[in-house]
Amino acid sequence: MRSGHRVVVLGAGYTGMLAAIRLARRTRRMDVRITVVNPSERFTERLRMHQVAAGQELAEHRITDLLAGTGVTFVRGTATAIDPEGRTVVVDDGAVTLGYDTLVYALGSSADTGGVPGADVHAFTLDGAGGAARLAARLRELGAAGGTVAVCGGGLTGVEAAAEIAEAYPGLDVTLIGVAEPGAMMGAKARAHLRRALDRLGVTVKVGARVTKVLPDAVELEGGEIVPADVCLWTAGVKVPSLARDAGIAVDERGLVVVDPTLRSVSHPDVHAIGDAAAIRMAWGRIHGTCQSGMPTAQYTADAIARLLRGRPVKPFRFGYFHQPVSLGRRDAVIQFTRADDTPRRAYLKGRAAVLYKETVSGSPIKLYRLGKRMNVSATLSKGGRATRRPAA
Ligand SMILES: Cc1cc2nc3c(=O)[nH]c(=O)nc-3n(C[C@H](O)[C@H](O)[C@H](O)COP(=O)(O)OP(=O)(O)OC[C@H]3O[C@@H](n4cnc5c(N)ncnc54)[C@H](O)[C@@H]3O)c2cc1C
Repeated sequence: MRSGHRVVVLGAGYTGMLAAIRLARRTRRMDVRITVVNPSERFTERLRMHQVAAGQELAEHRITDLLAGTGVTFVRGTATAIDPEGRTVVVDDGAVTLGYDTLVYALGSSADTGGVPGADVHAFTLDGAGGAARLAARLRELGAAGGTVAVCGGGLTGVEAAAEIAEAYPGLDVTLIGVAEPGAMMGAKARAHLRRALDRLGVTVKVGARVTKVLPDAVELEGGEIVPADVCLWTAGVKVPSLARDAGIAVDERGLVVVDPTLRSVSHPDVHAIGDAAAIRMAWGRIHGTCQSGMPTAQYTADAIARLLRGRPVKPFRFGYFHQPVSLGRRDAVIQFTRADDTPRRAYLKGRAAVLYKETVSGSPIKLYRLGKRMNVSATLSKGGRATRRPAA
């Protein structure tokens, strides 16, 4: 190992934090300097942003507190450019330049409001604590007077948000708008439970509906139907930062960093990509961005970097999905257990047991960071068994 190996981790979201903390522990007797870059000092619990939108206050977790005792340096700022040939990262347009020997690219994703006119101007998103808090303030205002809320995107984020808002503000008319049926990827029983919960909470569900325009007080659907919306929340589709693409690092058609079976960039092997910003293929298909899949990529990458620094071989990354945990307000939830490729098994949980399960899942990253400073705790529920034993095509 070269002396004073410099690792820079871009992004202190779910995966960047785990990668930094675990790598610090794995290399604690080595001459390795780890630096994490993130725009905010507060750790964003993205899994709970719909709770913030509905007016709940979350515990405040500061990144420096979570990193305390690890020796990891925190730089508050936004990475604005990467020079993969010179191995540097520019922060805040040149305010700071960081050299690296190994780069961990963990910049995550955000709601893609660029594809539909008006969405970037009129719609709220759940990307960060700031946006969720602004939505919370608007909903509080509206909740008192009464009004309409359109949640665009019938995926699990949309379902969780619609349920949470409808439960917190029973006086608001909440409409969930999506192409597919809510919970389409679940088994019939879990999906039926999810639908009953939305009905009970008074959420109007529009299926087979594509939003074509977001207006100040409504959304327009394909075919011309207008759905009134004093508030529009956008959860339909995600995009990733353009930093890797701009730097000439190989990306796929969506801008995700293309990686080899050990999660290293195919164009720049000293760049490791994890979480939502990485294009990862397993033998069963493509991983889609979730915390569930992201945490194992971070764990794996920390271990892989430590092994590479010791000159040891690294086995390919293996991951299989295990569950789809979905909150339905604070008093109900549904958990669909899955096969490695995220297709549903027969087993599912609902009601109180599911609420407890979901809360355990949502709270587990922070617990993992704390414990991970002192011991090696696994963030991987399933490596996919037989489904990941053969290499990805
Ligand atoms: C409301 C909601 C509910 C969800 N529920 C679930 C769930 O139940 N289960 C599940 O598995 N997944 C869920 N997800 C998805 C999950 O949150 C993401 O898959 C996960 O956050 C990905 O982790 P990440 O580390 O890749 O990205 P993130 O956690 O988004 O972290 C990326 C970090 O990079 C920072 N960053 C971005 N650009 C820069 C830059 N230029 N310079 C420096 N830092 C930068 C960001 O500020 C952020 O801190 C949910 C998402 C939302 C929005």
